[in-house]
Order: sequence, then structure tokens, then C-alpha cells
Amino acid sequence: MAPTLESEEHKALRSAVSALGTRYGREYLTTVVKEGRHPHELWSEAGKLGYLGVNLPEEYGGGGGGIAELSIVLEELGAAGCPLLMLVVSPAICGTVIARFGTDAQKHRWLPALADGTRTMAFGITEPDAGSNSHRITTTARKDGPDWLLTGRKVFISGVDTADATLIVGRTEDSRTGRLKPCLFIVPRDAPGFTRHPIDMELNAAEKQFELVLDDVRLPADALVGDEDAGLLQLFAGLNPERIMTAAFAIGMGRYALAKAIEYARDRSVWNTPIGAHQAIAHPLAQAHIDLELARLMMQKAAHLYDTGDDTGAGEAANMAKYAAGEACVKAVDQAVHTLGGNGLTREFGLASLITAARVARIAPVSREMILNYVSHQTLGLPKSY
Ligand SMILES: Cc1cc2nc3c(=O)[nH]c(=O)nc-3n(C[C@H](O)[C@H](O)[C@H](O)COP(=O)(O)OP(=O)(O)OC[C@H]3O[C@@H](n4cnc5c(N)ncnc54)[C@H](O)[C@@H]3O)c2cc1C
Repeated sequence: MAPTLESEEHKALRSAVSALGTRYGREYLTTVVKEGRHPHELWSEAGKLGYLGVNLPEEYGGGGGGIAELSIVLEELGAAGCPLLMLVVSPAICGTVIARFGTDAQKHRWLPALADGTRTMAFGITEPDAGSNSHRITTTARKDGPDWLLTGRKVFISGVDTADATLIVGRTEDSRTGRLKPCLFIVPRDAPGFTRHPIDMELNAAEKQFELVLDDVRLPADALVGDEDAGLLQLFAGLNPERIMTAAFAIGMGRYALAKAIEYARDRSVWNTPIGAHQAIAHPLAQAHIDLELARLMMQKAAHLYDTGDDTGAGEAANMAKYAAGEACVKAVDQAVHTLGGNGLTREFGLASLITAARVARIAPVSREMILNYVSHQTLGLPKSY
């Protein structure tokens, strides 16, 4: 798929990351998942090459770029069949929030290590009783002398087992009632009172999801990132990149599946022409390609708005990009599986497991319906049903 509207630097980054991804490829990731490992070889090589921290400030060892560049990295690794999900969380959410709102000490402690990939940070906002309604989160921080005590539960949090810490979204005691005034805490993996249980997901991925319990986890004052009163602004500094990066994840996966289907449709003949000559096979693949291209355009717009400091404009575009990419990915994967007939369901061709994986982009980090709600209310000015 030929990328458009890109600078020479972006094209060069795209092709360099693509070369790295192709060198590892789908087989590498499949093996890693089968062995129950993590793709640390790819992660650390990408870190050494500067790809993991391409969005982080140069003075802290990053590439000085933005989410536009980081989304290229994730999309191209995904298109090569080996996406690194933790890119969505570690440099995109946590790195961005710390770079924008962290203290100098937090920046020095975390950014160089997040940039070169030697340390990673997970991100936890979702709670079992709040789900899509983040205003209902109850993870609560209370002051105890100079320390904070954090108590609550989280669910579906990715990569907590490998991450050195998790950026936990809580609320302070005085904001327990009323609108959400979130505050963000860095919780080290082995902090006393911080426990995790893996969730048995029907997903073929190296990154696992966890239910977390925080039972009076004692944190020093400097575990708080940013201002406890800054509220949603700080949170959305991380959530908009997350949506843009999820779009990149989805577009990469969609491109990978589509490429497999095209290759198969060119070769496979059961009458006197390859199946790709039948329009019932060709047209849905063409539509999938168009949908992925369109989703990428919106993703590029969202990344551009975010990187140029337009947080409000980026919010709407990031939601739309995530929606478009999630839908394009689900359709591309579905059509790819169908194109391969019975082989679409064999382990050898490896497409069937993407059916579940593609759904992640429709559900997380914000579901299709919640984006449609957002656009209905915020963009179109329609009334709310909830
Ligand atoms: C693989 C994976 C990885 C994840 N990783 C992380 C992570 O690292 N960190 C993290 O914090 N979270 C993570 N999540 C959680 C994810 O963000 C949530 O699953 C998502 O926000 C949806 O919340 P929920 O599952 O509670 O669904 P619910 O909120 O219970 O929603 C269920 C269904 O109801 C619909 N619905 C809800 N409210 C409305 C409404 N008002 N109007 C219309 N429809 C509605 C939803 O669209 C959805 O289809 C992950 C999830 C998955 C699957």
C-alpha cells in the first residue's frame, strides 16, 4: 500500500521500520507466543535503533518527533506481522504524560529508559465496575503524611508482568463524588499491596492482560505525575495518543491480513483463472484497501493536530481515526480469512487468530459505540441517552 502525503523523513522511517519488521516477521511473533515469551529481541533492537522513543524529547534520549512518527513505527511493524502492543502504552501514553507533566526527576528517571526500551510502563484506567464510564472509577488515593495510599481494582491491564511500573489512574479522596478529577500515579511492579492476576484471554498475543488489586499501596509523594488538580487535561494528554496508536495497530494488522489475502488470490486457481479475478473476491479486497487508506488519512490528521498542540481538535480526530481503523481492520481481516477458504482457518496460514485480535481494535481503548456517542454529542450536538 503506497503511503501518501508524507515527508521524506516519514517515508524513510517507514521503510526502515518495515525492513526491521520484515526481518523478524510473523513467524518470529508466532514462535514467541507459542513459547509464552515476550518479543524482547525485537523490542530491544527497535529501542536501540531509536524507534521506541521516536516521539520523546531529544534531551531525554528520544527522537524529538511526535505521535505521527511513533504511529508509523507501530503501523509498519504490524504490517510486517509483528506489532508491539506495548508501544501504545509505554512511550505513547506514559512517555507522553511524563514528558508533558512530569517533574524533572520523573523525566530523568523514566524517559531515557522508555525511549531506549530498557524499561517499560503499563497503563491502567479500566475498572470492573466502571468499564466505558471512566467517570465511575473508584481507585482512590489518600494522603498519609508525605505519602499516598492507593486502593482500588483494575481490569484488562496489558503488560503489567513485564512493565517496570504501571501508570495508574485514580482519584483523590475529596473528588470521590461528582465529576472525575483523575490523578496519575507511577506504581512500581513489586510495590507491596499491588497484586496481579492474569486474565485468560482468547487472544494469540505476547502481551497479557491482568486484573489488578491495589490494597493500600504506599507511594512516595513523587509517584504522582503532574498536578492532582489538573484533572482531565493531563489524562487526555495520554488518551489521545493511545487512540491514535490503536488506529496504527489496527491499520498495520489490516494491511498484514490484506497482503496475505492478495498473495493467495493471485495464485489460487480452482477454475481457469486465479480466484482474485472473480470480482466477488477482488472487490471486497479493494474496499478493504480503500478503508485502510482512509483510516490512515484520519490517523495522520489526528497525529498532526496532536503534535502541533491542538488537544481539542486532536480529541475528535483521534476518536474518528480509532473508529475508522478499527472497523477497517475488522473488515480486512474477515475478508482475508474468507479469501483463503478453508486455509483461512488453518494454523499454517495464521489468519484465523487475527479475527479475535482485530476485535480488540473495535473494543479498546474506547469502544465503537462510545466513539459514536462522542461524535453524536460533541460533533453533532445531539442529546445524550445516558
Ligand atoms: C486486549 C485488551 C487490552 C486492554 N488493555 C488495557 C490496558 O492496558 N489498560 C486499560 O486501562 N484498559 C485496557 N483494556 C480495557 C478496554 O479499554 C476496555 O475493555 C474498554 O474500554 C471497554 O470497557 P468494558 O470492557 O468494561 O466494556 P463495557 O463498558 O462494559 O461495554 C460493553 C459494551 O457495551 C457498550 N456500551 C457501554 N456503554 C454504552 C453506551 N452508553 N452506549 C452504547 N453502548 C455502550 C460498549 O460499546 C460495549 O460494546 C484492554 C482491553 C482489551 C480487550
